[in-house]
Amino acid sequence: MRRPIIGGNWKMNKGLPSEATDMLKKLIPLVKNIDNIDIVIAPPYTTLIPVINLTKNTNIMIAAQNMYFEEKGAFTGEISPIFLKELGCSYVILGHSERRDILKETDEIINKKVKKALNFNLNPIVCIGEHLIEREANKAKEFIEKQFRISFKDLSDEELQKTVIAYEPIWAIGTGRTATPEQAEEIHIFIRDLIASSYNSKTAKVVRIQYGGSIKPSNAKYIFKKENIDGGLVGGASLQAESFSEIVKAANDSPF
Ligand code: PEP
Repeated sequence: MRRPIIGGNWKMNKGLPSEATDMLKKLIPLVKNIDNIDIVIAPPYTTLIPVINLTKNTNIMIAAQNMYFEEKGAFTGEISPIFLKELGCSYVILGHSERRDILKETDEIINKKVKKALNFNLNPIVCIGEHLIEREANKAKEFIEKQFRISFKDLSDEELQKTVIAYEPIWAIGTGRTATPEQAEEIHIFIRDLIASSYNSKTAKVVRIQYGGSIKPSNAKYIFKKENIDGGLVGGASLQAESFSEIVKAANDSPF
């Protein structure tokens, strides 16, 4: 009942229109027959316009990598949800661990952003996940529960159902060290149980929970086989059309 979703987070790469469009011209034909899953690309702000133009009438949707929680005004350097919606973004990534750890975004800030994105009909992809230190201290679940409770505070059932949760263990991001499918599934079940106890079982069944952290063509199909893993958020391997399309195909062919 959940439609899997694969996101490609380009981070601070392919920020020049020519590099972004070169990549997409390769990717579009490679994934054009994919119809079982949602495909989302998150380019830097500077290439949103050419990327949105090029993907119109394709099966690729576009996400921004971040946004601010105010609509307009004296917020130098920030980007409003209104701008993103008007440009044609369907999704926005919020609370990526790089924004939390490097740019010091708190769960409270992320909660404001999630609510604002939903107000403007942008589907949030909200990242949560523990550092190595919490995993090794056997505190991963405690850490994730706190992120969950604050980041999704005061959302209605319908709002949470529109939200995608990306479980991204920080020790697995960009490190080449992937969580095993069993480690990831254990946390996905934990998050689904949190949704069931704080919302209801219908919402727990509907919310899509992606895994993110060093997904590659070689490990994708093992991760996507797990019942509670509804696709993935891909960093490094989303930068090449070939590797990203292989991951997309692995998800499309997976018996979700
Ligand atoms: C990410 O940054 O969201 C991510 C999952 O990166 P990578 O695939 O490179 O680990």
